[in-house]
Amino acid sequence: MMTAEAQLNDLWEGYRSKWRRLLSPKMIRELTLRASFDVDPINPRKIANNIPKGRVPDCNQCEDICCAGVTNVVSLRLADIAVLIDIERTDLITKKKPRFSPVMIRRKPQLQDLMDSELWRTLPVLRQVGEQRICAALTPELKCSLYPHWPTSCARFPYTLSKARKAVFWGKRCPVYQEAVEHVEQSESLFARSVSGYNERIRDAVLLHHARKDLDRIGLGAWLTGSKEDPFEPVHDPRNAEP
Ligand code: SF4
Ligand code: SF4
Repeated sequence: MMTAEAQLNDLWEGYRSKWRRLLSPKMIRELTLRASFDVDPINPRKIANNIPKGRVPDCNQCEDICCAGVTNVVSLRLADIAVLIDIERTDLITKKKPRFSPVMIRRKPQLQDLMDSELWRTLPVLRQVGEQRICAALTPELKCSLYPHWPTSCARFPYTLSKARKAVFWGKRCPVYQEAVEHVEQSESLFARSVSGYNERIRDAVLLHHARKDLDRIGLGAWLTGSKEDPFEPVHDPRNAEP
C-alpha cells in the first residue's frame, strides 16, 4: 500500500506540466485558475537571499513561543496533510480556521488577505489548545512532537519569501538569531525550504482546482473545506484582546 504522500506525489506528476494542463480538455479550467492565481513555480536561482549566510534562529535564547497564539496558527499544505495521515497524527488537524477579529487584523493587516484567500479557506490548520492557543503538537517540554515531520511553514521559519521582491527575508516574528559558519548548511536549507514551500502552495492550488476527486480518493478530501461550508470559527486570544 502506497503512502498518502507517495500517492500525492504520483498525482502531481500528471499535473506538473503547465503545457499538459493547457493542452488538455481541462484547458478552460486552467485558464480560470490562471486568471486569479499565479501558478508558475519560482526558480530558487532567481531569488535573492537577503539573510546573511549562517544566520539561524537561536531558540534557546528566545523568550517567545512562536508555536502559540491565534495569529500564529499553522496552515497546512496538501503534503502536510498526507504526512500527518501517514504518521497517524490526524488528531492534530482541524478544518476550522480562526475568524480573526478586527483588532487582530488592525495589528496584522495581512490576516485579512489570508482570510480572503481561497487556499486558506480550503486547507486545514493545526489544532491549537488552551486559552493561550498553543499548537497541539507542542510537548510540555516545549519540543515539537512532529519533528522531523514538520509542516512546511514550520520547516522554513523564519525564512520568508517575498515573491513581489523576489527575495527571501528574515521574518519579523522571530527576534533572536545566531550567526556562525557551522550554521551555513542549516541556513541554506531554510532558504531552499522557503522557496519550495512557496512552490508547494502552487501545487496545492493546481491540484485543488484540477484534481479534487483524486484528493478524495487519496484520503485528503476529508480535511478540505467545501465551498458551501463555513471555514471559520470565532476565537478569543488574550494577547489580541481590545485594550
Ligand atoms: S521566535 Fe524564533 S528564536 Fe524564538 S522560538 Fe521561535 S524560531 Fe526560535
Ligand atoms: S508543528 Fe511544531 S514547530 Fe510547528 S507550530 Fe506546532 S509545535 Fe511549533
